[in-house]
Amino acid sequence: MKVFIACLGTETNTFSPLPTGEQGFREWMLYRGDATRRPENLFSAPLHVWRRAAEAQQAEVVESLSAFAQPAGITVRKVYEGFREEILADLKAAMPVDMVLLSLHGAMVADGYDDCEGDLLEKIRTIVGPMAAVGAELDLHCSITEKMLVSADALITFKEYPHVDSKERARELYDILLAKLQGAAQPVMAVYDTRMINLWRTPVEPMASFVREMQACEGKDGILSVSFAHGFPMQDVPDATAKMVVVANGDVAKAQAVAERLGRRIWDMRDQTATRNLSIDEALDRATAATARRPVVLADVTDNPGGGAAGDATFILRRIIERDIRGVASGLYWDPMAVRFCCDAGEGASFDLRMGGKCGPASGDPLDLVVTVKKIIRDGMQPALSGAVPIGDAVWVQTQGERDLVLISNRTQTFHPDAFAQFGIDIASKAIIVVKSTQHFYAGFAPMAGEILHVQAPGAMRSDFADIPFQKVRGPYWPRVADPFAAG
Ligand SMILES: [Zn+2]
Repeated sequence: MKVFIACLGTETNTFSPLPTGEQGFREWMLYRGDATRRPENLFSAPLHVWRRAAEAQQAEVVESLSAFAQPAGITVRKVYEGFREEILADLKAAMPVDMVLLSLHGAMVADGYDDCEGDLLEKIRTIVGPMAAVGAELDLHCSITEKMLVSADALITFKEYPHVDSKERARELYDILLAKLQGAAQPVMAVYDTRMINLWRTPVEPMASFVREMQACEGKDGILSVSFAHGFPMQDVPDATAKMVVVANGDVAKAQAVAERLGRRIWDMRDQTATRNLSIDEALDRATAATARRPVVLADVTDNPGGGAAGDATFILRRIIERDIRGVASGLYWDPMAVRFCCDAGEGASFDLRMGGKCGPASGDPLDLVVTVKKIIRDGMQPALSGAVPIGDAVWVQTQGERDLVLISNRTQTFHPDAFAQFGIDIASKAIIVVKSTQHFYAGFAPMAGEILHVQAPGAMRSDFADIPFQKVRGPYWPRVADPFAAG
């Protein structure tokens, strides 16, 4: 058996002002055939799983490109086409291939390609033919398209947000494709469109129980896999709505029935799961009143680089300073120029620093602060969901009012308390910690947080899903209309 593995992706916020070029991939992950000899990250972890599983069965493994970019705006056309052609050339050189396993995102848009994953899968299927087993593991913030469905034998998304389950899902995909090759199963897929655009947080109810309900359906009655593809709300593409995807053994009608039953459950939970974030002042009022539940963690969801925002917005920090709220840690601010100034000044230096607010209206205005450079880390990392992510050169600066800020030169969201603690910042003693993240901070911060509040500031990751100015999204969707099924 010969197994071909590769990774290509990013999460494209089609409203983001930041183009995704080759630099965006180089900063996050760009390996040519050797990702499994390097430390794991969220999207290379499946390749490690697949290599181990295949080699345990004496299969030959051909490893191609692993390229993943920090979420931003639309990918530059020649960058996407270049990576795609690298993968296809490696595949042609490796033929005949029995199994193709891809770690993709599912929400990658390039200039001229609304559906990069469908385009890649279609070309791969043309090369390997119908008898080969082809599957992809996707982030749950993905858009499921017809082209993806007809080209793959199986699509499996993460079930958890934060995405803590990429390795388990990788193993399930491998087992389904192996069953096809061995004649033990004939995977077929069905999809149910919930006609909803929303963010669903899986550690909290009712979604936590829904994840268990999906898992309870798997492995019996011919159901091989159940995925809830949440969609990515900042993506203006025809297939942006959330969908249930079910893989069954040979019986499409059964897959369709399960997909529809579970999709209607999501619909029935819409009032409970609707995204409701606090305004900046509502969150600060609650946080300052909560003296017994410190530290209060505020998630700056609208400036989450993990959703394509710049990561340099100043709206919340500005309000904290205006209200003279003390004992605050906040980060990670993407500001390479400010980091450069701090590195040049050196540890211990105090000076006037202009920080943040540089990337556009969604970032707000810059802040002019008197800071002391407390610590500099060169080529830093922070723990993330599977492995670590680079933060580049990074600095801890302190301003008046015991406010500690972490500035970075490699754009990424805030995943883990060590993003602060590694500098020596005592975040447990803080009244408020502000993190630039929507949900991936949760696994790391929840154990030490007195309370967690999600904040809707102005910014690039909107959560007023009814009002986002989509041009391409197909058909009516909730919450823009109360009942998109009645609307047609
Ligand atoms: Zn995601």
